[in-house]
Amino acid sequence: MNTQNQSNTRLLLPEFEYVKPKTKTEALQLLDQYRDKDTRILAGGTDLITKMKTGALSASRLIHVRDIKELSGARQIDSALHIGAVTTLADLERLPEVKSVYSALYEALRSMAAPAVRNMATIGGNLCNGSPAADTAPALMVLGTVCTLSSLTGERRMKLSEFFVAPGRTALLPGEMLTELAVEGVRPGSGSCFLKIGRVSADIAKVNIAVYLERDGDRITDCRLAAGSVGPTPLLLDSVASLLKGSRISQQMLSEAGRMVEDAISPITDARSTQEYRKAISCILAEEAIKAAWVRSGGEVPR
Ligand SMILES: Cc1cc2nc3c(=O)[nH]c(=O)nc-3n(C[C@H](O)[C@H](O)[C@H](O)COP(=O)(O)OP(=O)(O)OC[C@H]3O[C@@H](n4cnc5c(N)ncnc54)[C@H](O)[C@@H]3O)c2cc1C
Repeated sequence: MNTQNQSNTRLLLPEFEYVKPKTKTEALQLLDQYRDKDTRILAGGTDLITKMKTGALSASRLIHVRDIKELSGARQIDSALHIGAVTTLADLERLPEVKSVYSALYEALRSMAAPAVRNMATIGGNLCNGSPAADTAPALMVLGTVCTLSSLTGERRMKLSEFFVAPGRTALLPGEMLTELAVEGVRPGSGSCFLKIGRVSADIAKVNIAVYLERDGDRITDCRLAAGSVGPTPLLLDSVASLLKGSRISQQMLSEAGRMVEDAISPITDARSTQEYRKAISCILAEEAIKAAWVRSGGEVPR
């Protein structure tokens, strides 16, 4: 039977060896020991186990990291919020500073799946899955997130925008795991927003867009835009941000930015949407997200 084409999952998983390290060092030792392709990290399992059940992915050994305490939770260090990779989406959503300071991230979390899934799923799993549609990716990218990849031999840091390589592929090397995300502090006079269109609410995105901007009077002084489900990886839209930087906000400028987003993306037609719809809706979502971020920064509604 071809299980790849099943739309429903099977109840029983194929057999696998299950290991549950208690500490980060233990997890890294296991990853180093089992550097073969058939060993995978298991966090919340909401992506991985589903794929194993449908036969889309196989693994003979899973290293379960979700309960490693030192990789969970968030803390403020200097101006940045440091988030452990196995922090659940639900725990992040409940953090007061995420709601009050990082609006784009809060909105991305709130848009995802049902509470039952958000209780299991982790922020690291959402990113390491490498999906172009991952909702937290554009939000974290515009918020200037740097990720830490750890292995037994040390750590390396990179901007989250450089983490995504291709559909389902990230910059993680054999023996490495994502351990932390550092989200930059936001400046006074700034605002951010995340918007998404799915087939139904809390569904995987047809398109998602995030914006972060800084305002001085009626001008945008700095800006980052990112979009998901519109290319092989979540995309940072630098050309649109360049247009916006230094500009006075107006309805005309918003329309121009929307048109530039349409030109900057390369969506495909798949089960969720068509290329044409994705282009058209990205333009509108971008305008709306820039406007909302602007108003949140304290600016007046543009005319
Ligand atoms: C019903 C349902 C609805 C969903 N809705 C959405 C949605 O609206 N938006 C959205 O973006 N996603 C959605 N998802 C997908 C999924 O829930 C998220 O991507 C989730 O955040 C994955 O996290 P996890 O901890 O469950 O990852 P897992 O399934 O445990 O892992 C995912 C992948 O990442 C790897 N991995 C996990 N953690 C690490 C780490 N720290 N270091 C290295 N590799 C790691 C695993 O090996 C695996 O390949 C949905 C899933 C379901 C089942």
